[in-house]
Amino acid sequence: MQSLHEAMPVFPDPALPPRAAPAWHSPPMLAYRHAFHAGNHADVLKHLTLVHLLQHLNQKDKGYRVIDTHAGAGAYSLGGRQAGLHREYEGGVGRLWDRDDLPPAVQAYVEQLRRFNEGPALRRYPGSPVLAQQLLRAQDQLRLFELHPTDHAKLAGRMRGDARVQVQVADGFTVLKAQLPPSTRRGLLLIDPPYELKTDYARVLGALREALSRFAEGMVLIWLPQVQLVEAARLPQRLKAAAAGVAPKGWLLAWLTVQAPRERGLGLLGSLVFVANPPHTLAPALSQALPWLARVLAEDARIAGWACETSG
Ligand code: SAM
Repeated sequence: MQSLHEAMPVFPDPALPPRAAPAWHSPPMLAYRHAFHAGNHADVLKHLTLVHLLQHLNQKDKGYRVIDTHAGAGAYSLGGRQAGLHREYEGGVGRLWDRDDLPPAVQAYVEQLRRFNEGPALRRYPGSPVLAQQLLRAQDQLRLFELHPTDHAKLAGRMRGDARVQVQVADGFTVLKAQLPPSTRRGLLLIDPPYELKTDYARVLGALREALSRFAEGMVLIWLPQVQLVEAARLPQRLKAAAAGVAPKGWLLAWLTVQAPRERGLGLLGSLVFVANPPHTLAPALSQALPWLARVLAEDARIAGWACETSG
């Protein structure tokens, strides 16, 4: 196994015992709204990886299908009430927007944001559905699943009229049987749940296993929160084990840590992306981007760090 890292985050912090779910994991169900978090450091890591994978798929003419199991509203106003509440984007994409020293993978992602903003100001943020839609060609397909009725309505409205895109109100964990393998035999599955229910951790693992059993050669991108929960700490190892020997192109796991836990271990310290069947270009691209991002997005320079591991 190849391992590239500067400061492997200690996770979970042994000084802080595993605890009950933090506030943002709490019921009621579907309390999570991505609009509050759009463009934060976690979106930066997830979406720059997504852009890299889609641009890789675009290198061949043959069409592909993108399946986004937890799609959200599709795009977000950064001037709106929700994004404006904690202004999380200011610690994420806001720190990249005016820089002229972006590493290539970050540059490719920011170019997609500029295309969506259609002007010099950063006013709105594209979620995974819009990023995918921007990069899709005529021969490609996009399948979007979102359970929250308000976000589903926004998403459906935004995608209306695009024959390449289908939007459904559905539990994204349950659609894999119908979606995989795709008729295109090329595809990317994005699994990006809110983890507001602890059961999401086990369901993500089950979804990876099911996806690879149906479509072993497909790319799977999973976003994971870096929080101090036992379920979160165990999931990366379990995902690696599920992909090992099943995904013909192996796996990649990347971490970006930006801050120390708040009192009692609360808060999102950073995030991870797990990719099954990554293109060979992803590890070098992330290994160049992540040290730069860890510096630029650091909230606490003492703890900020990154790691990128592959199955070799
Ligand atoms: N993938 C989006 C992006 O990158 O722009 C963000 C998705 S957000 C992290 C998670 C979304 O999943 C929320 O909009 C939430 O309403 C939705 N959701 C929660 N549970 C779900 C489920 N079981 N199936 C489908 N959507 C779900």
